[in-house]
Amino acid sequence: MESATIPTLTEDEIKYFFHDDSECIKRTFIQHDVQNFFVRPTEKNDVPESLNYSILMRKRTFVNELPAIKWKCRAPLGNGKLCERMDRYKCPFHGRIIARNEQGQAVDEKIRIQEEEQLAKKRTTPEWQDPEMLEDIRLATGIDLRMNEENKKKKKKKKESGLTELGIEENTVRKRLEKKLFNRSSLKRIGAALDRDERRRNEEKFHHQFNYACNN
Ligand SMILES: [Zn+2]
Repeated sequence: MESATIPTLTEDEIKYFFHDDSECIKRTFIQHDVQNFFVRPTEKNDVPESLNYSILMRKRTFVNELPAIKWKCRAPLGNGKLCERMDRYKCPFHGRIIARNEQGQAVDEKIRIQEEEQLAKKRTTPEWQDPEMLEDIRLATGIDLRMNEENKKKKKKKKESGLTELGIEENTVRKRLEKKLFNRSSLKRIGAALDRDERRRNEEKFHHQFNYACNN
């Protein structure tokens, strides 16, 4: 019952879009004798192709609740878990949702091999560590972006005590901006500028009015 209400492609559309059969949209119209001085019947009875196409591409409105999603993306996440997102057609992280087995491997053999190759590549060297590209960058800019073992170790050494450092917590964006904006001298400066601006505006626009004349 539900599926019957969902608009589907017509026979002609399937032929045209999936089988490149342009014959299917050819339509003719019979021209009746036109009793008009300005309109003359054309010799052909064929509808021009562009019109045929637009007839095919008519808009169909479908208002209904979409059927519930019963599947998950299930692409392997690399930490042994599978993607739990429930999207209709496409996962924003893993692309089109395809059939996968319990381990998250694609059922389609071609895609599975492709994915495995990509994964192996990722594991060996990250894309931005392509040696040729890095050499080019080094020659052009003099900066060596190669990732060496020392750099890796340094990053790992960062201590994490798990405690909140109060000193750092105080140093927020808001605090830093407040320091600059509510500085006494800058407040004075900005106040003076605003006053000057207002006075000028009043003089320009309302100089003939009594109360403004008194204020300035
Ligand atoms: Zn996913």
